[in-house]
Amino acid sequence: MMDDKHKAFLKVFDTPIQAKKSGSLAGMKLAIKDNILIKGEQATAGSKILEGFVAPYDATVIKKLKDAGAIFIGKTNLDEFAMGSSTENSAYGATLNPWNEKLVPGGSSGGSAAAVADDLCDASLGSDTGGSIRQPAAFCGVTGLKPTYGAVSRYGLIALASSLDQIGPFSRSAENVEKVLEVISGRDEHDQTSANFEYKKAEVDTKKLRVGLPKELWQLSIDPEISVAVKKFIDWLEKKGATVTGISLPSLKYGLSAYYIIMPAEAMANLARYDGIRYRSSAEAKSLMEKYLKTRSLGFGTEVKRRILLGTFVLSVGHYDDYYQTAVKVRQLIKRQYEEAFKKVDVIISATTPTLPFELGAKTQDPLAMYQSDLLTVSTNLAGLPGLSLPCGFSKSGLPIGAQVVGPAFHENVLLSLAKQYQKETNYHLKKPQR
Ligand code: GLN
Repeated sequence: MMDDKHKAFLKVFDTPIQAKKSGSLAGMKLAIKDNILIKGEQATAGSKILEGFVAPYDATVIKKLKDAGAIFIGKTNLDEFAMGSSTENSAYGATLNPWNEKLVPGGSSGGSAAAVADDLCDASLGSDTGGSIRQPAAFCGVTGLKPTYGAVSRYGLIALASSLDQIGPFSRSAENVEKVLEVISGRDEHDQTSANFEYKKAEVDTKKLRVGLPKELWQLSIDPEISVAVKKFIDWLEKKGATVTGISLPSLKYGLSAYYIIMPAEAMANLARYDGIRYRSSAEAKSLMEKYLKTRSLGFGTEVKRRILLGTFVLSVGHYDDYYQTAVKVRQLIKRQYEEAFKKVDVIISATTPTLPFELGAKTQDPLAMYQSDLLTVSTNLAGLPGLSLPCGFSKSGLPIGAQVVGPAFHENVLLSLAKQYQKETNYHLKKPQR
């Protein structure tokens, strides 16, 4: 029996699922976030409202991984409907940070990150709408990639915000992250937003690399220990011949505000389907309306309800122009400023998170403090760009620190090539928490 002492899993399969013995991932053990469908298995999305639901089909990523010989060992914990930054919003209890059990593993894909950190699997899948792969990767000391919007099919992913969601891999090494990405990426007829993208490995010449450091992200209040560690990663790039310059992306200042308008607006619409009719009801009711209300009142947790209210508000008559329309304009601006920046630099680097992993319970009563966890990651989703978090050091207290590398659309190969070169010469990614 597997010793899942940090509660990374919501379900460990009695018999691991392996559809094929050969393929590029033959024998690789994978854990899957519980908002991605594996046929015949649970998919709770961390919510009571989906308790008992059994997936009727495989997500496209699962189908592709099965064909490549991967072995699925279980479903991992997450914040309810992937809303959160700590896994504490899971209706099934929080995951603990493998480096220190008093701390959160990050979220919403905290279970997938912790499962890799604890060596319970070789790689895992998460989803990232505003940072949910990169932030837990940083908090758990592993490598995590949010692919370009459209690079990976979302078919079979329980949606949070459809214009922002992407599935992506975690592993200890960038090499394994790349192996999984090679398999899961590409056009899928079941997802009309998926792109005709064929992943091709690259070997980036660091001597020709231009690195941009956006002052709007570096000037934010970041834990000094994190800034120091990320700067050391940049020093390494400079030593390898890269040119490092300060750049400006003024609209990034508004990224978090725009995200917390667009995301709930889309989430509210996606969550409307959980009404107790198509799947199941949580309650006895005398009328249809009562059934809807009871199902949703009992089935959804506090954060989900908060976002339904927020989403309804920002789309309502009288507020639509002020909030939603403005946020959409900001999003366009962010996208354009990134495009301009990528004419001058090849990658953009910052910290992944403003803080080190925080204590369980520290932010659960203060949603705005929790939302600040996404300060450095959301703009990438708004612009649809790929972002990688890689381990780049440790705090004095022994906690892992992540650096975020963002590239132009469909240039995952640049990010992964850099990470692979870095991981050949350093061993932050190999250090494991004591068990
Ligand atoms: N923490 C962010 C939120 O709560 C991001 C979530 C995500 O990427 N799924 O919305």
